[in-house]
Amino acid sequence: MAKRVLVGAGVGTGVTYGPAFVLTKPGQSVSELTTPLARLTLGAMREKLDAVAEKLESDAVSSTAAEVMQALAMILRDPMLFDEIKAHLSEGSPAARAVRGAFKKFARKLTELGGYFAERAGDLDALADRVIAEIEGVAEPEFPTEPFVLVAEALSPVDAAKLSRDRVLGVITIEGTATSHSAIIARAANLPTVMGAIGAGIIRTGDALLVDATSGQVFVEPTADELEYYRRASIPRHTTGEDWNELNAELPVKLYANLGSSFEGAAALKAGAQGVGLFRTELLYLGRLKPPTFDSQVFEYIKLVARFPGKRVIARVLDLDLDKPLPFLREAGTGRYANRGLQVLLANREVLETQLSALAQAGRTYTQTELWVMAPMVLNVTEAREFVELAHSVGLGVPASQGGVANSRVGVMIEVPEMTEVAVLDELLDVVDFVSIGTNDLTQYVLGASRHEPARDGRTPSIADARQPEVMAAIERVIAAANRKGKPVSVCGEAAADPTTAKHLIELGVDSLSASPALLPQLRMTLLADAFGF
Ligand code: PEP
Ligand code: MG
Repeated sequence: MAKRVLVGAGVGTGVTYGPAFVLTKPGQSVSELTTPLARLTLGAMREKLDAVAEKLESDAVSSTAAEVMQALAMILRDPMLFDEIKAHLSEGSPAARAVRGAFKKFARKLTELGGYFAERAGDLDALADRVIAEIEGVAEPEFPTEPFVLVAEALSPVDAAKLSRDRVLGVITIEGTATSHSAIIARAANLPTVMGAIGAGIIRTGDALLVDATSGQVFVEPTADELEYYRRASIPRHTTGEDWNELNAELPVKLYANLGSSFEGAAALKAGAQGVGLFRTELLYLGRLKPPTFDSQVFEYIKLVARFPGKRVIARVLDLDLDKPLPFLREAGTGRYANRGLQVLLANREVLETQLSALAQAGRTYTQTELWVMAPMVLNVTEAREFVELAHSVGLGVPASQGGVANSRVGVMIEVPEMTEVAVLDELLDVVDFVSIGTNDLTQYVLGASRHEPARDGRTPSIADARQPEVMAAIERVIAAANRKGKPVSVCGEAAADPTTAKHLIELGVDSLSASPALLPQLRMTLLADAFGF
């Protein structure tokens, strides 16, 4: 596997590969400026605001960018904002502090309004940065002359508007959402973009990055195998969506998509996904001091399930793989599985209960979609049983005739070797409705590696390592047990998109394969070519 695989919200289109350029923004840290902070007269302040407004309007490289820039320029010319800055200046604040204070107050007002307005509040911060840079005479960052993947903490719409396709191959941000202004501009520029990528702080300028905007994944220093899969499988940019139903009907198994946000549902449908085999819900929880509310979760889940009427969506409850746990989560476990998976949620029951209730509510609201729910990194049958009981208590996996959520099922992911023992599987499969094999984690744990340590032989496992005999034997035991018990079994790790592995999994008796939307068209064609013998 790549040095690290990061997950965020994919926007824009397609896949790209190139060296990282990590952007440090001007004006970001006023407190770090060594020169005395400038003091300005009201007239000079007005001139600075107007100068930035004009630059914004002239910098935009596309018509969408121009619209956004005009909206931001209007804010800079807003008399209410100027009054606020004036008030700060009259209290004796240096110009930069007055700007920061006034913008913060404005942003707070927007945040209080919630939803769309709250997301615009982030844009205001970036706008204040830009004005402060102008006041303090901080030079704008120089972009490299060779093509690069831009990595930024938060990409302001101001930066985004300047991104031109000839040099910027793609964009990754640590903060930001799929609906922010920056995302709108990146999408209009057709740039593969992943916003809010978990752990992107580890990326350094020059690191090789493979960006998959269809599944929200970023491979840092990808292996040759990973690059090769993507090179062969990338969706051509001109694909506008085709009717895949006829071809899908010929497939030996269902092909599902792995998604990191509801927004990526469009890419999944375009790639002909027959449903969602893995909806990673981590993004909803990141960068927060408190867990997302029940209502905000219901909203996000409905947005996704509503895109797949008559199809299946398998949502996975929270599985964070962070060096530091989130502030609202108690730590759990020790050793190589510490702070991963279901054990963390069982130690933070209120978080799990809210997520399951929100999923159940989405399933009850939008009944045309089959909503299945699963737990990640389950370590033993006792944990699985607790998860199933909790899910049942909110109606998931309970028939509609008994007051449950129609067409819902409850299952677990198989991602650790301990769960691939025959006796364990037999007991587990009496408890759950289905299992899904996570080959990303399973491969590394079978080979004695973890996401932060190399394998026993010193190498970092790659997608192709799922084909290694030890790993395949574990996968085979899981599929055989599920088939014996008559329970659905799918594979949702990236190896599912490796045609050699996929064919073998089908022979073994898997019911569905789930992979990044970018990889589905190629996988479909390989499987069909085999089915028709050409
Ligand atoms: C896996 O481990 O194979 C998997 C699909 O989960 P994630 O990559 O999100 O850990
Ligand atoms: Mg996993």
